[in-house]
Amino acid sequence: MAVPSTNWESELYTYDVKTSHDFLFSQPHTNDPLYFSQVKVSAVALLKIVMHACNGGNLEIMGLLSGRIIPHAFIIMDALPLPIEGTETRVTADDETAQYMIRYMESSEKVGRKENVVGWYHSHPGFGCWMSGIDCDTQSLNQQLGAYVAIVVDPYRTMASGRVEIGAFRTYPIGYVPPKDRGDNPYITIPTGKIDDWGKQANRYYKLETSFFKSATDIQVMEQLAKKSWTNTLTTSALVVNSSYFTLQAQEQVQMITGEGGTGSKKSDKTQLRKASMKALSEQSPALATHILKHLIFVKQ
Ligand SMILES: [Zn+2]
Repeated sequence: MAVPSTNWESELYTYDVKTSHDFLFSQPHTNDPLYFSQVKVSAVALLKIVMHACNGGNLEIMGLLSGRIIPHAFIIMDALPLPIEGTETRVTADDETAQYMIRYMESSEKVGRKENVVGWYHSHPGFGCWMSGIDCDTQSLNQQLGAYVAIVVDPYRTMASGRVEIGAFRTYPIGYVPPKDRGDNPYITIPTGKIDDWGKQANRYYKLETSFFKSATDIQVMEQLAKKSWTNTLTTSALVVNSSYFTLQAQEQVQMITGEGGTGSKKSDKTQLRKASMKALSEQSPALATHILKHLIFVKQ
């Protein structure tokens, strides 16, 4: 899996006492629902989130994000996988999670880490990065407790496309009418069974710009990982690894053609089908080409 190549910086985001105190004192996000516009995720945090989500497979996994706040942005330094499994109807934190969180914060403090928990992440296996009704409810509660961000990652689409499918979101306060021209939620392919929920929630939250950076520690960790993983990369096939996701895509397209679980007028179904087919083609073609190439190099003598 390739890590995103844009916006990586060899820069260590250091804890700044003044910035942190200024933010705590003025709490600017409480007066401006759109105050936060960016999330910067460290390489190691991104890797941990994606690996956790990929290991979870069909199960929706969940974890916490630790980091810092700078003006208008969250800096995510680390990810903390939580020992719970979720479904889209239950990805909320319970008592066990709260206890785990407290232990994490205490041990972080002992080793001199200055980061706080500034958000949570969870996975949407195969159904894209957006916020469901339950996600919006959970995030709204979290935002009442402080500056908090929600990250959603799709492990299936990440593995299929080789590009990390990730989205960062914050909800609006109840009763807030978002500006019309923000264009926050551009078209993404949503499985037919999820379209209703996606449409209903679209005006409850907005998407933050996500970028990535490498700290000095990240560079060392990534180099070690790259040394260990190149043989795996050579010997696996994306077609085989992602077979269940590709099957799911085919089933979705059949549903769109036959009209079962239809999503509206014929015209919009056709547009959706065209977009879904193009997406499937763009993901499956490179996998097929690589598969043939590896077969020619390693199998056929
Ligand atoms: Zn969700």
